[in-house]
Amino acid sequence: MSIDKKQLETNLIHTSSGLDVEQKTGAVNVPIYLSSTYHQESFDEFGPYDYSRSGNPTRQALEGKIAKLEDGSRGLAFASGMAAISSAFMLLSSGEHVLVSRDVYGGTFRFVTEVLSKLKIEHTFVDMTNLSEVAEAVKENTKVIYIETPSNPCMNITDVKGVVEIAKANNCLTFLDNTFMTPLYQKPIKLGVDVVLHSATKFLSGHSDIIAGLAVTKDRELGERLAFLQNSFGSILGAQDSYLLLQGIKTLGARLKQSSETALDIATYLNEHPLIKKVFYPGLSSHSGHTIHARQSKGSGAVLSFEISDAVEAKTFVEHIRIPIFAVSLGAVESILSYPANMSHAAMPKHERKTRGISDGLFRFSVGLEHVDDLIADLDQALHAAYVRSYEAVGVRNF
Ligand SMILES: *Cc1c(COP(=O)(O)O)cnc(C)c1O
Repeated sequence: MSIDKKQLETNLIHTSSGLDVEQKTGAVNVPIYLSSTYHQESFDEFGPYDYSRSGNPTRQALEGKIAKLEDGSRGLAFASGMAAISSAFMLLSSGEHVLVSRDVYGGTFRFVTEVLSKLKIEHTFVDMTNLSEVAEAVKENTKVIYIETPSNPCMNITDVKGVVEIAKANNCLTFLDNTFMTPLYQKPIKLGVDVVLHSATKFLSGHSDIIAGLAVTKDRELGERLAFLQNSFGSILGAQDSYLLLQGIKTLGARLKQSSETALDIATYLNEHPLIKKVFYPGLSSHSGHTIHARQSKGSGAVLSFEISDAVEAKTFVEHIRIPIFAVSLGAVESILSYPANMSHAAMPKHERKTRGISDGLFRFSVGLEHVDDLIADLDQALHAAYVRSYEAVGVRNF
């Protein structure tokens, strides 16, 4: 039976890359090939590997796996999500132009505005949820449309097929940052996207242990060009981290399913809480992108954002939270509470943050694998305690 007919949960664990079960010993895990160079048996006919920047068997097993999971033709593993993203942007040449989601990841924003612009690659930020704005922003030299959906941190949803149509009509490529959904819930290449990018630091590895990035191209030729850039920059993922990422991917199915269920329960709870102004989660029917997201994705994921009421001080709220760690990053077994204004989006000037809805009361919550009742009880006590404290502080001042 063809492996392609299997469900993704199965393919996360078994793929046909041959290295899944090591041939010589039957070892169930891909060996970690710690070798920078490879002996060549023949004087003039070289083997498949020569130097590990250009190719390493452990990394290759991972690259084959992600290509398969994303239904692409070539997968590449990078030293970080930003290495994958910035290398993909290097497919462009000076004088060309890119359209980028307005509420893109802070590091991508920094790369586009401060590095691409130095290389004379122009950019325009657009509201990707508004297809007519996207179509109008395309210029003669536009070569790439860059999508992030759901976007970070307000979980805006882009109609991927709609943007791909605009791109195709204008001879542009589409890149999509699939970090939040992973191939388990969203298959951008099936929707026509040319390059899928991941911060594998997040859900794919899942344990807050490694920094890693992945890229998958729809066609082979584009894959060759990106592999050339990867080898030229040298920003490859090491063999040990490639191994850890392969291990993380195996449990993605169970982790993401559980965390997403808990995320919906938490979003529903917060949505009804009097001290919460707004909840951003595509799984809520009240979310503006709910219908489009449900059409193009199989799940709503494990990240939500919420804005606390002015009656609750952000600092006091964080001081009372006990279970989630308070940190940047997301997609791990432990829940992570982040404060985008001075964490993930600190690289973005305040006025830019404001136009993207990143207020001083906005929190992002990446739901882990703790019991839902414990997480809700923790949020509940922290909101209540912060409210009481803010109320007391106001009371004292008035006195
Ligand atoms: C974290 C993240 C990145 C950057 O990835 P690194 O692995 O930290 O370099 C890019 N995009 C999104 C959506 C992210 O969450």
